[in-house]
Amino acid sequence: MSQPILRHDHEDGSGFGFAVGLGNTWDIWFDDPERLKTTGALDEFLATQGWESVPSTDDRELEAARQLRSELRSIFASQTAHEAAAMLATLLNGLVVEPRLTVGDPADGDVAISFGPRDGADLMEQMRVVAGLGVGGALERWGVDRLRMCDADRCEDVFIDTSKNGRRRYCNVRCQNRFNVAALRRRTAEARSERA
Ligand SMILES: [Zn+2]
Repeated sequence: MSQPILRHDHEDGSGFGFAVGLGNTWDIWFDDPERLKTTGALDEFLATQGWESVPSTDDRELEAARQLRSELRSIFASQTAHEAAAMLATLLNGLVVEPRLTVGDPADGDVAISFGPRDGADLMEQMRVVAGLGVGGALERWGVDRLRMCDADRCEDVFIDTSKNGRRRYCNVRCQNRFNVAALRRRTAEARSERA
């Protein structure tokens, strides 16, 4: 079992970035959607998220990451707050969360409390706590309607719509551009058939 060094900043509530990132390691854009094929791929993914696992992950942790991913994707796919909350409750069940107090410059008296995995939690527990608090926080702050799956063809990436108007449809610029290109082709084809 890995003894991970967690270098993850919980203080800005960015655990939802980890939840989204892990959710999107299943990417149907590729012929084989599995992006976590090996423990090496999981190590790499964790590194991109600012985590480091020493020594590298093992098969049990890989399996746990995939299982957590499938739970997260179900929350993103859920239609109602009730449904999402029930799945989140299962995800969070039995987890221990520890508060951490940060005191800034005594002169300005800045005090911050953040919540995260307890000291000594193994990697599987840490992933679950960070992803669970992240997606839970997003659910609380923005509501289930903002937890979405991409609208583009051949994409089921998850994202959280934090935009002001809440009308974001695509996971990223890649899919937005693919949609624009397809729409342009459609318009060009229509214009041609009208001229014909
Ligand atoms: Zn997409």
